[in-house]
Amino acid sequence: MLRTHTCGELRIDHVGQQATISGWVQKVRDKGGMIWVDVRDRYGITQLIFEEGQTDQSVLDVAREVGREFVISATGEVVERVAKNDKILTGDVEVKVSDLKILNKSKTPPFIIDNDTDGGEDLRAKYRYLDLRRNSVRSNLEMRHNLLQQTRAYLSKNSFMEVETPYLIKSTPEGARDFVVPSRMNPNQFYALPQSPQTFKQLLMVSGFDRYFQIVKCFRDEDLRADRQPEFTQIDCEMSFVTREDILETFEGLIRYLFKEVKGVELGELPHIPYSEAMSKYGSDKPDLRFGMQFHELNDLAQGKGFVVFDSAELVVGVNAEGCADYTRKQLDELTDFVKKPQIGAKGLVYVKCNEDGTFKSSVDKFFDQDALKAWADKFDAKPGDLILILAGDANKTRKALNELRLEMGTRLGLRDKNKYAAAWVVDFPLLEWDEETERFHAMHHPFTSPNPEDLDKLGSDPGSVRANAYDMVVNGVELGGGSIRIHDREIQSQMFDALGFTKEEAQNQFGFLMSAFEYGAPPHGGIAFGFDRLCALFGGQDSIRDFIAFPKNTSGRDVMIDSPSLIDADQLKELHLGLVKPAKNS
Ligand code: ASP
Repeated sequence: MLRTHTCGELRIDHVGQQATISGWVQKVRDKGGMIWVDVRDRYGITQLIFEEGQTDQSVLDVAREVGREFVISATGEVVERVAKNDKILTGDVEVKVSDLKILNKSKTPPFIIDNDTDGGEDLRAKYRYLDLRRNSVRSNLEMRHNLLQQTRAYLSKNSFMEVETPYLIKSTPEGARDFVVPSRMNPNQFYALPQSPQTFKQLLMVSGFDRYFQIVKCFRDEDLRADRQPEFTQIDCEMSFVTREDILETFEGLIRYLFKEVKGVELGELPHIPYSEAMSKYGSDKPDLRFGMQFHELNDLAQGKGFVVFDSAELVVGVNAEGCADYTRKQLDELTDFVKKPQIGAKGLVYVKCNEDGTFKSSVDKFFDQDALKAWADKFDAKPGDLILILAGDANKTRKALNELRLEMGTRLGLRDKNKYAAAWVVDFPLLEWDEETERFHAMHHPFTSPNPEDLDKLGSDPGSVRANAYDMVVNGVELGGGSIRIHDREIQSQMFDALGFTKEEAQNQFGFLMSAFEYGAPPHGGIAFGFDRLCALFGGQDSIRDFIAFPKNTSGRDVMIDSPSLIDADQLKELHLGLVKPAKNS
């Protein structure tokens, strides 16, 4: 037997017993007469002890051969430690070794395998299998495993059936860019990897599966960020014979269950915030609701007083940073530089300090007297000691910039505590979004999303004003999931493709299968998908999803461990008919 116990198992109760444990050498301390070896596995660390005079010479010789990350198996008596270590669960005992085997040697690892490591990100990525030996990374994956099991448990209990859908599907121009796979057996033709199983899950509803889920890999060829990977995992779900409220209730239930089971956190009821309100109060469709600092619009009070920046602006809007009236010149300059960064794009920042003595000091004192500033402070509900920060300009851009400033202030003021969770549903998104570049409408969610029934008659005449029957779940400013009630009527689906600028032929070519299915008794249905990697990162209190994925890609979309993507040889290219590829007619 290579082990009777794991390295995390032995306690004071085991004293006097014989044990065999196996694992990797974390550390060796050789003090001449005594040798201590810490041996580690997934479950913990146990100390082995070897003593000159007491331990057989042959065993001592083997102990002197081992180095970091050697794989060993040690047998001996469990004894109570003289110097106990209360930082580890096995810290009361050690194993007095009578037999030691080296199961495999190890080269010196390229970085220290411990929570505090000297390995930089690139090095750790190259040796990911060693990085995964570190507690911090492994425990993230343990939590991921737990979330997977609990998700399956909740959904199965609620009659959802897990069905696998294909990975080799068909490329469509909607949404993000597809990853494509050449077909050897069908010269010049390509599969695409799914951006999501959207159409398949809808077809399963037509097939009568009623409640579907799948924890599934999805693929999108997009530019990468900390919270994006080219392949990622979704909890993908669909239900038949439901209203929007049924869906929100079911999946609010899922998220509450996961928070309770996995984090021990009671998540209260989720407020429903219309998209228009999210944009006007927070400048974002995924507001961080761990703190207030809502937007207040000042056009009526601030325009027409001769300050040209305000007078020429579509929107004058600001936030109240409570307790920040004592900000120094330097701090205010930092905030101004922050909003002027190109990615934020504001032209400048106006501030009003609400002094403790009831007076006001602003950067626009030339144009606004104390009474005017007092009226602003009332609007912002600002008290003495508060600081009002104001931006002005084009409405959409200004809201976006103020959203960034609000988040920055939230961070500076410590209001974005990773151990606090604020969740909400954002509802009533616009159905369509105008794209300046291509001069046509895009589906804000996807083309299968049902218009709000009240707005249906405007789909032909005023498509931009139609609201979608769509919803997002937002937690701590992160979009955790999104979905919609779907169109299940062939005629409405066809009108939707018209509104998106598809010709009848294009719609038929790309989505004919779905529209045909709608002619054979499609039930009303809707669904949602959650970003599973993001959920893991949120539960782990981190921004990057990479450390919650066993083998992630780097920010250039590369796997530096297996060195992929890579070139393929000429024979392979030939066999795949690449190099002779003809473009499709419609491109
Ligand atoms: N398929 C959608 C997505 O991946 C989610 C949904 O509508 O269910 O965003």
